[in-house]
Amino acid sequence: MNLRFSLQTKFIAGMIVMLLVVLTVVSLMWQRQNTMQGEVASLARGSMHDLVFERLRRRGEYAVAQLADTLTNPLYYSDLDAIGSIARTTLRQPDVSYVLVFDPQGRIVHDGSGDIPAYGRPMSDPFAFEVIAARAPHTQVSEHVVDIASPIMIGGQRLGGVRVGYSLASMRSDEDRATQSMTGRLDIISQRHLGWITLLGGALLALGVTAVWLMQRALVRPIRQLAHAAREIETGNFETDTPVSNRSDEVGDLVRAFGRMSHSVARHDRDIRRMAYTDALSGLANRLAFRENLDQRLLQLRGAGRQLALLFADIDDFKRVNDTLGHDAGDDVLVQFANRIRETVERIGGENAVLARFGGDEFVILLQGQADGDVRTAASHLAETLVAELSRPILVHDRQVFLGTSIGITLFPEDASGSTMLMKNGDIAMYQAKVAGKNCYRFYSRAMDQAVERRVRMEQELRGAWERGELSLAYQPVYRLADGQLVGAEALLRWQHPEHGAIAPSVFIDVAEQSGLIETIGLQVLRTACNDAVRWQQMRSNAEPLFVSVNVSPRQLRSGDLPQVVEACLRESGLPPSCLHVELTETAVIGDELHASSLLARLRNSGVKVWLDDFGTGFSGLSHLRRVPVDGVKIDRSFIADVLRDPDDLALTTAIIAMAHSLGITVIAEGVEKEGQYAILRERGCDLAQGYWLGHPVNVQEFSLLLAGAQQLQTRN
Ligand code: C2E
Ligand code: MG
Ligand code: MG
Repeated sequence: MNLRFSLQTKFIAGMIVMLLVVLTVVSLMWQRQNTMQGEVASLARGSMHDLVFERLRRRGEYAVAQLADTLTNPLYYSDLDAIGSIARTTLRQPDVSYVLVFDPQGRIVHDGSGDIPAYGRPMSDPFAFEVIAARAPHTQVSEHVVDIASPIMIGGQRLGGVRVGYSLASMRSDEDRATQSMTGRLDIISQRHLGWITLLGGALLALGVTAVWLMQRALVRPIRQLAHAAREIETGNFETDTPVSNRSDEVGDLVRAFGRMSHSVARHDRDIRRMAYTDALSGLANRLAFRENLDQRLLQLRGAGRQLALLFADIDDFKRVNDTLGHDAGDDVLVQFANRIRETVERIGGENAVLARFGGDEFVILLQGQADGDVRTAASHLAETLVAELSRPILVHDRQVFLGTSIGITLFPEDASGSTMLMKNGDIAMYQAKVAGKNCYRFYSRAMDQAVERRVRMEQELRGAWERGELSLAYQPVYRLADGQLVGAEALLRWQHPEHGAIAPSVFIDVAEQSGLIETIGLQVLRTACNDAVRWQQMRSNAEPLFVSVNVSPRQLRSGDLPQVVEACLRESGLPPSCLHVELTETAVIGDELHASSLLARLRNSGVKVWLDDFGTGFSGLSHLRRVPVDGVKIDRSFIADVLRDPDDLALTTAIIAMAHSLGITVIAEGVEKEGQYAILRERGCDLAQGYWLGHPVNVQEFSLLLAGAQQLQTRN
């Protein structure tokens, strides 16, 4: 057993041992004093006895000597009456117990009695022998009596002697009385001593108790408080109350140092937490903090019948900002977005709402349903407001940027009861909002899971689709506006799904791009297009060579080996480089401007032409063309569609044409669906055009037939 003694216990035990030692010493001293008192009493009694006895003896000897003198004559004359009278007088004296007058032979002559019954009897008591023999005064002592004898002489003749017995009884009683009174006094003194000792003992006890109390107050209590606080801190409760002290001693120093230490530990903990739980850019909570908060909320709300909504907001096409305006601008946009979202959430999200940035351009809001309200209504109100707030233009580096936000909403406990599922659902709903056209919000529904599943399935099905012959190329003819001549074709990928039939490129190209499949598919497209184009040249041996333009995705450009891949394809197929056009979207080109520029320069040096597809939809604007080495721009079909109705679109298209021409860049219009569009483009000097009015994308056989017909647009004119 592991016994643990506290400081206080040890101290109390120490005090008790000390008290016991003191008590033992005191009681020993007490005993010693009692013995001494006894010794003093007996010593006093002895010396008193000696004193009294000596006085008695001297008084007796003097009296007996006088008695002997007085008795000389009466004894000489044997005057018994006189002897009797003297003896009686002596007998009457205090303390005298007998008087014996005797003759030289030791026979009693008189004993002071009336008829002297002992007359003539020899003395037979133990003192008698010495008394009879004595020639001088002689004293003998027994227990009760002091016997003093003196010979009675006349001249040199011995007449006899006299003995007087002095009783010691009264002396004894005197002694006893004196001793008694002295013992009484000594007792009083010892009582007084005992009183003092008890008082001292009491004081000592009080001192001990006070010392224990003081120690408890001054040492044990603060140490215990410190130990308690230390244990609390050890368990992670950094905000625990630490003891305070204004004492100026070492304990005070210790308590204050501990307080400072615990504050600094708490501050460090807060700092670390803040660092671990905040998003450095926006100052909002981060994914970790949000996740913990969400788990905690779910725990509280489970079974309480309360609802939660999670809103996943993702900025639409945010990547374009980073790609076109740079990462600083991207950060700026994110901060401005974060502020707008924060303001909106603070305004209408209620006090329990939590906002976090999940990294990238993704923000998540936790909305707690009010006891009386429906969380769905509150969430759609917040989402609606956010979509409206966030679609207001943002000023970045003196440029107005228009961005939208897609929001996915999932509800607890309706959609899921765990945080992982909720987050997944929110993500799915957000993705669906993107699919639905962006800049809107969508509530999660089970059907969305199926959409995600479909996407995953599509990715699996797309793998190996080329090898299975499901993927093919369609070619859309491109005409020169000036003379209506067919000058080339754009290769467009087609997927004939074995079950679902034709699938739109806008659907599957996205999946291929995101899964990375586009890198292998893109290579096949390039190779096939080159081979087909070579065949076209062979068909029209003496005519102007046709070009084929191939769409290249941002991911293909980013992989870095595009120039090598293109060169390899050209080499393998034998297509002259000038007959290959590469179409890149602005986003792909401007993503990493330096890198892209060097890649494009390499492509162009090899003779391949580079076109910017969907021109006008990005941020680059016309000025950007100066910095990016391209041979042509393809005006996006959204401008062409409205070129007849919207004067702005016409003005922009005209400006693009003029600007491009001033830089020596070819202009192509796509999506020409009407004759009027064709005419106005031609009038404004646009170089090339493609569109349903000119020709739909067709498979390679049909395109070959088209070529064989050697159709010229001029016939239409
Ligand atoms: P894009 O490069 O802008 O291609 C032009 C799209 O406009 C094609 O759609 C074409 O069919 C369509 N189009 C042509 N004329 C008209 C018209 O008069 N009116 C309308 N409304 N549309 C017209 P498609 O084939 O669905 O392709 C869509 C997008 O898919 C393409 O846009 C391109 O970005 C991408 N894409 C197609 N094939 C490939 C490919 O092999 N590789 C890569 N990376 N992307 C491809
Ligand atoms: Mg294109
Ligand atoms: Mg286009």
